[in-house]
Amino acid sequence: MRLILMGPPGAGKGTQAQYVADHFDVPAISTGDIFRSNVSQGTELGVEAKRYMDAGEYVPDDVTNRMVRNRINEPDAEPGFLLDGYPRTLAQVEELDAMISSTGHSLDAALVLTADQDELVSRLLHRAQVEGRADDTEDVIRRRQELYAEQTEPLIEVYRSRGILIEIDGMGEVPDVTQRIFDALDDVPQS
Ligand code: ADP
Repeated sequence: MRLILMGPPGAGKGTQAQYVADHFDVPAISTGDIFRSNVSQGTELGVEAKRYMDAGEYVPDDVTNRMVRNRINEPDAEPGFLLDGYPRTLAQVEELDAMISSTGHSLDAALVLTADQDELVSRLLHRAQVEGRADDTEDVIRRRQELYAEQTEPLIEVYRSRGILIEIDGMGEVPDVTQRIFDALDDVPQS
């Protein structure tokens, strides 16, 4: 399975990505997690990414694309992968298309988690208390939501027009959302 998982900040991508990836026995590749681990290790990539992340901005496409290309070329991603938080821009869509088609495969499905705005903000503010993420302050959350609406939401129509979009209601209990994803993916033929 080659899957991408999209959705606004706070929609529960990270949580669901792990369950779905385990179920299909493929790695969950989260660009946000990779950036955060580089930040905490103080790598060159981390230093570069932190400037953007702390402000709620997207890390530049060339940096992000290079990182994802390296990651999906690792042997564990050969049978498939679930990308969480990538692509987020049209330039990233094109780059991902190139990466996948060069291996002779194609994307099986693009999942989008939906949730209402009030629920999203309250989840993020709760996460701020629990995890203390630097980008979970109110101003930065607002900026991340804005950028999602401007740059990432348009990708939904791109994947819809390709006929591989699957919208999942992300509201409710975590296991219920996971089950909705599994049910929807049951109908997807694997390439
Ligand atoms: P969320 O989607 O909940 O805001 P993530 O953990 O997925 O959080 O991402 C955190 C930050 O990492 C983003 O705000 C952005 O700065 C950076 N980032 C993650 N994925 C990408 C991407 N595909 N392109 C550019 N920046 C990214």
